[in-house]
Amino acid sequence: MAGDQRARRALADAARARLVAALDGVLGDRLRTEPGVRPDYYSDGIVVGAFGLLERCGRRAAHPADDFAESVRTARRRIGLAALRRLGDDASAATHLASAVDEVVTDGNSLARGLTDWLEGLDRAGRAAVVAAAISWAEGVVRLVGTDPGIRWADASSAAHWNVPDRLVRVSGSHDALLGGVVRGERLLLVADGDAGPADRLRAGYLALVRSLGTQHAPVRVTLAAPSRGDLVRVEVDEGLLSLAVDRVAEHVAVRADREHAPPRPGRWCRHCHLLDVCDEGQGHLGAASVIPPGP
Ligand code: SF4
Repeated sequence: MAGDQRARRALADAARARLVAALDGVLGDRLRTEPGVRPDYYSDGIVVGAFGLLERCGRRAAHPADDFAESVRTARRRIGLAALRRLGDDASAATHLASAVDEVVTDGNSLARGLTDWLEGLDRAGRAAVVAAAISWAEGVVRLVGTDPGIRWADASSAAHWNVPDRLVRVSGSHDALLGGVVRGERLLLVADGDAGPADRLRAGYLALVRSLGTQHAPVRVTLAAPSRGDLVRVEVDEGLLSLAVDRVAEHVAVRADREHAPPRPGRWCRHCHLLDVCDEGQGHLGAASVIPPGP
């Protein structure tokens, strides 16, 4: 299968058809594009991303927090990736990671405008912290993944996306690196430096789905890299993996299309939920969890 371009094309076609049919099933006539009207997916539609897709509680998925703020933690990946791209770029004088990161941070054109503005607002200590974190992120990834010259590091300022035909629904996702091509088979890399768990398969499947839809060929494999654990988890892309992702996308879109009826799913994650003050189920769960059972 790995080298069979026709089979990878068939997998992508099947995933596309399954996704279109699944969305027809959950949306009916809702979220249709209008002929002659340029679709605004962000204002009028639904943009699916890996973060929301992995959300365990439907209510929180339907009402995500909108308090994103840049921090050292959020910035390090994008700067680290831009630095890794520079190392392979003849136009750059950088010869090692530290100098590449330095170039990226000093050159105002390497990063998305919002991130550049945030960097410019930092004091010296803040910049030093970002630079150190980006170098450490990139070094950790390279230590784990290696330096194969065929690796193409992703441009973190633009996520891949695919618009569902005739629907105000877009799927969007970012990988961190790519090896190979559509003809021989692509291998995607994603840095997923959290705890390993069942969500890994969905995370890999969703990334493979977005890539399959965009290139019309399923990738061969998605590798999840966790530098802090020294772990590489390889997930082969097959029909089961893509179907898992498609079904989850349909479920997620259904919840977001009917936000007022999005079902709560209380759990230990309620403790950090921005909706906790207005969520009876979450409060009830945490209250019950804090009750100490009477002794014998
Ligand atoms: S408090 Fe818990 S159940 Fe309520 S919305 Fe948040 S995560 Fe969901």
